[in-house]
Amino acid sequence: MELKKNKYSIQGVPVTAIAGEFGTPVYVYDAAKIKSQYERLAGAFPGVKLKLKYAMKALGNISIVKYLRSLGAGLDAVSIQEVQIGLRAGYDPKEIIYTPSCVDFAEIEEAINLGVTINIDNIAILEQFGHKYGASLPVCLRLNPHIMAGGNHKISTGHIDSKFGISILQKRHLLRVIDTYNIQVNGLHMHTGSDILDAEVFLKGAEVLFDFSREFPTIEFLDFGSGFKVPYREGDIKVDIEALGKKISAAFKQFEQDYGRPVELWFEPGKFLVSEAGVLLVKANVVKTTPATVFVGVNSGMNHLIRPMLYDAYHDIVNVSNTNGTRRVYTVVGYICETDTFGWDRQLSEVHEGDILAIRNAGAYGYSMASNYNARLRPPEVLVYEGKPHLIRERETLDDLLRGQHEMDFEE
Ligand SMILES: *Cc1c(COP(=O)(O)O)cnc(C)c1O
Repeated sequence: MELKKNKYSIQGVPVTAIAGEFGTPVYVYDAAKIKSQYERLAGAFPGVKLKLKYAMKALGNISIVKYLRSLGAGLDAVSIQEVQIGLRAGYDPKEIIYTPSCVDFAEIEEAINLGVTINIDNIAILEQFGHKYGASLPVCLRLNPHIMAGGNHKISTGHIDSKFGISILQKRHLLRVIDTYNIQVNGLHMHTGSDILDAEVFLKGAEVLFDFSREFPTIEFLDFGSGFKVPYREGDIKVDIEALGKKISAAFKQFEQDYGRPVELWFEPGKFLVSEAGVLLVKANVVKTTPATVFVGVNSGMNHLIRPMLYDAYHDIVNVSNTNGTRRVYTVVGYICETDTFGWDRQLSEVHEGDILAIRNAGAYGYSMASNYNARLRPPEVLVYEGKPHLIRERETLDDLLRGQHEMDFEE
């Protein structure tokens, strides 16, 4: 979203016009931004065979999933339903890596039958896998290198208390199981969390995967997961992707040489690709002065964007209806019966009831974590592609909410 001539726009389309056409609240995504983020990451690793597997849990609309395929991405799926959507979006099964956590073995069998790359994250499941498939099918192992990383305990996954991955401390046990069943390991994976700032964390994790690779002669790829941070507020440190890419590529090339055969380098970015591409447009319903502050109450809430309440996430908010009014301090809140604050003490250009506010950086974990709490309808999604807004999901209706509910009748 760019500010030009006092108007915020996406690819030249004023966001107020999008709000006018599709109503509010509405999620709007900028395909050009997704593309530039994709290309920036894809171009940052010189001299290695890089594959980017889009982590579709960040933003799972099938049109977005298809768009990323058109750019050349593979897919990281964390549930069988994501696998199914990925296949429907046209991904080659081999380009989909299925990384479940604590699922039933039956779901893994289903994914195997669909032909996707399987990533296993605990020894108990690996034993079942070995028993049933032995050497007939290669598998990737999700390791937990126990590296503390990530912006927030809730989103870091590498620490010792984390449920994710096979602990590197279980190496002896792991190798025993693999030997017993003659399991063919074709990849090693780690994902230590979100919002990682520096290359050192990736490099530390990489060392662990390099080291483990020595145990397995048939490695085809190493998957370093994700965690690429995006700037949420003005002045946030930006990750220097190019510098990070150079460092990791150098280490990787050295590893490939030592390993003695070609290996692919995989990442699974979610947030980095789609977060900044998205805004949630909402309407100011009321401006309410209390003894403590001035609230702007908007026609959306934590049911549509839970990150501020769940992760204390900061999302920049701008008044797109009034771009150069007097700046005043507001607390922007939602309409849910629950404390649902989008932002405390924000300086916004003076807000009038009916103004459209844009909550920025809402592409990742926005719609995909939305719910119907308070029996509210989820908003539509719009993708701006080649200068035109396209509706890629309709606003829900009351019928959608009631669908599947069985209405019992009771005597009065
Ligand atoms: C969530 C997740 C990702 C994506 O993380 P981002 O911070 O959105 O880039 C990648 N890999 C796995 C296994 C995940 O669970």
